[in-house]
Amino acid sequence: MHAGLASDGGSKLKMLLTFVDALPAGNEEGTYYSIDLGGTNFRVLKVEVGDGSVVTRRKVELPIPEELIKGTIEELFNFVAVTLKEFVEAEDGKDEQRALGFTFSFPVRQTSVSSGSLIRWTKGFLIEDVVGKDVAQCLNEALARSGLNVNDTVGTLALGHYHDEDTVAAVIIGAGTNACYIERTDAIIKCQGLLTNSGGMVVNMEWGNFWSSHLPRTPYDISLDDETQNRNDQGFEKMISGIYLGEIARLVLHRMALESDVFGDAADNLSTPFTLSTPLLAAIRKDDSPDLSEVRRILQDHLKIPDTPLKTRRLVVKVCDIVTRRAARLAAAGIVGILKKLGRDGSGIASSGRTRGQLRRTVVAIEGGLYEGYPEFREYLDEALVEILGEEVARTVTLEVTVDGSGAGAALLAAVHSSNR
Ligand code: ADP
Ligand code: MG
Repeated sequence: MHAGLASDGGSKLKMLLTFVDALPAGNEEGTYYSIDLGGTNFRVLKVEVGDGSVVTRRKVELPIPEELIKGTIEELFNFVAVTLKEFVEAEDGKDEQRALGFTFSFPVRQTSVSSGSLIRWTKGFLIEDVVGKDVAQCLNEALARSGLNVNDTVGTLALGHYHDEDTVAAVIIGAGTNACYIERTDAIIKCQGLLTNSGGMVVNMEWGNFWSSHLPRTPYDISLDDETQNRNDQGFEKMISGIYLGEIARLVLHRMALESDVFGDAADNLSTPFTLSTPLLAAIRKDDSPDLSEVRRILQDHLKIPDTPLKTRRLVVKVCDIVTRRAARLAAAGIVGILKKLGRDGSGIASSGRTRGQLRRTVVAIEGGLYEGYPEFREYLDEALVEILGEEVARTVTLEVTVDGSGAGAALLAAVHSSNR
């Protein structure tokens, strides 16, 4: 983190400036729209803000069509623009130009709060001629209006902070994974002379790209990496997030099928990449029926492996468990890394003269389909936090789920921004 803040390219962690220096304080008001372009889903939201609450009045959520992920940027943003236009017209009768938040969950080098160029695609996106371009401008052209361009982690932090001012960081664990936190401007060495009213700025870590020689990498991680468009990038993300976990388990099962007879002669059926999705992996791990009937069904329906003995189904559950647990523990380690950087991991107690009883409360906002939809993942993550921090310090850290955080938060930031102008 220090190296990434010291210079561009100084670390695998990009530590990107967001130009967000003011977070919602809880007194914002009004009706706002936001659009959220994630890794798997596209959402449009209308949110009403006031009296300390943020209410999603209406939301449409559509899977991003496969052909758009590999098409042109015009096609993708036209899809976005048309969906937004229809949504707004259905709501307001005509297109009222309310403040708009645009959440874009890809690494962008921002030059202001409403402009920035795409560094590279992640999460399987492969649209040519966009890398290096100003994505906010491309979108504004498609929408014929301007909005605030925010990263999804930043939106999540904003919504978390609206509800609770002790929120200092946000983490996404969905299709991909990433985190942001509030850094002091004087610690952002690569941008000397950076001045903000608050003395701080939200830094988008792009932690999905984290890597360290201390991280043990298995042959399955290497095979997975080979299957992706962004080889050698996003190593941390590929061990943690929703696009990848099911596939890691499939790779393990495939090798088991090749090297043993646990799957009978069905080895070939396990050879197709990405046939085991992460929600299926979660369903396998969750099956607590005595005969693992759900595991049997998934193996049969999704992987075309009929008639597995109970012993084999138990083995499959075990593999899914291990893949899940590793992911959750790595995410927990990342969170502790942020707490440590903020001096909130309890390690500075002796030097600060503070006693353990006076530890500051810390809230981390979390969003994402994997974290929200998979309770066992959350349990493993919590368990690891306690293990690393110790019970006493872990008690001062709250992980707060902010449903729709990335979208609603962007709308809130649009509110903060439009009232500050
Ligand atoms: P994005 O905003 O990037 O589109 P989301 O936050 O909506 O992503 O998360 C979607 C991802 O979460 C999917 O890729 C899927 O792998 C994972 N996911 C969704 N539901 C579950 C579940 N019940 N159990 C495990 N993983 C899930
Ligand atoms: Mg998202």
